[in-house]
Amino acid sequence: MPKHFSRIFSAMGNKVFIIALVVALVAISLNNYLKRKGETRYIFHTEWYDPVSATVNKFHLSFFPRDRSVEMYDLRAQRLFLKRIPVEGVEERDLYLGNTIVVLSRQLKITDYADAFTRDQITSKRQRTFAMVKPDAVHRLGEIVDVIQSRDFEISQMKMVQLTRLQAATFYREHEGRPFFESLLDYITSGPVVAMELVTTNAVKKWRATLGPTDSQEARNIAPESIRALFGKDKQLNAGHGSDSDISAIREIEFFFPSSKINDDLLPQTTAKLANNTCSIIKPHAVAKGHMGSILKAIKEEEFDVSALQIFRMDKVQSEEFLEVYKGVVSEYPGMVQQLMSGPLVALEITSRVHGSQTPTKFREFVGPADPEVARELRPNSLRARFGEDTVKNALHCSDLPDDGPLEVEYFFKILQ
Ligand code: GDP
Ligand code: MG
Repeated sequence: MPKHFSRIFSAMGNKVFIIALVVALVAISLNNYLKRKGETRYIFHTEWYDPVSATVNKFHLSFFPRDRSVEMYDLRAQRLFLKRIPVEGVEERDLYLGNTIVVLSRQLKITDYADAFTRDQITSKRQRTFAMVKPDAVHRLGEIVDVIQSRDFEISQMKMVQLTRLQAATFYREHEGRPFFESLLDYITSGPVVAMELVTTNAVKKWRATLGPTDSQEARNIAPESIRALFGKDKQLNAGHGSDSDISAIREIEFFFPSSKINDDLLPQTTAKLANNTCSIIKPHAVAKGHMGSILKAIKEEEFDVSALQIFRMDKVQSEEFLEVYKGVVSEYPGMVQQLMSGPLVALEITSRVHGSQTPTKFREFVGPADPEVARELRPNSLRARFGEDTVKNALHCSDLPDDGPLEVEYFFKILQ
C-alpha cells in the first residue's frame, strides 16, 4: 500500500477515535449531570430496520422515566436524531433486551444496554421465571392471569400447548424414578397447559411464593391467598408450576420458548384445532392495560372455549399482511396496523361446543360493534363496550366472516409458528 494511503487511514482512525472519545465523554458527563439533578436516564442500543433502503440504522435511545420521554441519537450520522420528547406507549417495563418498542411509528429493537447504570438497574428489575398453568386449572386461566398481574408480574411470553409423554418426561426428568413420576406424567399430559415466561424483580422466588406449597391442602392452611390454595386440589393436582432456581428457569423457558427455531419432537406444540373456529386478538393496548384476565373470564362465561392461545409481537410487515383485507376499505387501517405492532398481543382460537356452528357469528356479536361508543349504547355487555377506548383501540379483533376464522387462526397458529 502506498505510504500516503496509510497516512490517510491512520489520520482517519485518529479522527474516529477522537470523535468516539468526545461522544463518550459527553454521554458520561450528561448522565452524571442528570444523576446529580436526580433524574434517571436509561440508555440503550437500538436498531431500526428501514424497509425502504433495506438498511439497519443504529441509535442510542435514552429514556427518562420521570416524564416517559425519549431522545434518540443516530450512531452512524453521529448526530441527535430526535430531541427529547414524551412518547405515548413506551413504559419503563417495555425496556429490556430483545424487546421492540415503537417510537414515532418506528419499530426499534433493543439490542444492548449502553451503560453500566442502565444494565444494573434494568437487569435487577427484570428477572425471568417460568410458570405453567397445569391441566386441572386451565379452565380458570382468566382468574390466574388476574392474580399474576395483580402481583406485578409481566407475562412476556405465553402459549397454550399439549405436552406429549416424551416432552413431559423430559421436562420433569429430575423426578424420574420417584414413586409419583408415572402419575405425574399422566396428569400433565391429560389436557392442555399454558406455559408462560414471567418477568419482575426477584421473579423466581416471588413466583414460588405466589404459587404456594406443592400440596394444595397445605397451601390452604399456610398460604390461603396462593394460587395452589385457590385453584389446586391436592399434592399432585396443584394448578401450577414454577421454576425452583435461576438455572431451572433458563432451562424451562428455553424448553417452551426456544431462542432459535427448532423443529423436533421435544418442542411443545400449539393446541389449535384449526377448524370449526373463529379467531380473535386481544389487542396490545388491552393487554398493556391488564385486561387479559377479565377478557378471558368473560369469554368463558359466555360459553366459548379458548382452544389455542399465544402471545405474539408482530412487526409492520406482519401487521399489514394480517390486516390486508381492510386496506383501502376502512379509514382506520393505518391506525389498526400501528396498534397491532405496538406491543405484545394475545391471539386466540375460539371454539364452542355450546354454540356449535353458530360460534363465529355468536362470538362476533359478543365482541360487539367496532366503535366502543356505539357498543356501549347498543350492546353494553359486549367486550368492546367493556374494554374498548376508540375505533382503533377497541380491545379485540375478531374475524369478520365465518370463512375468515380458520384462515386467521392458521396465520397465527400455523404460519407464524
Ligand atoms: P413443585 O416444584 O412444587 O412443583 O414440586 P416438585 O418439583 O417436588 O414436584 C413436581 C410435581 O409433581 C408437583 O408439582 C406435583 O404436581 C407432583 N408431585 C410432587 N410430589 C408428589 C407426591 O408426593 N405425590 C404425587 N402424586 N404427586 C406429587
Ligand atoms: Mg419442582
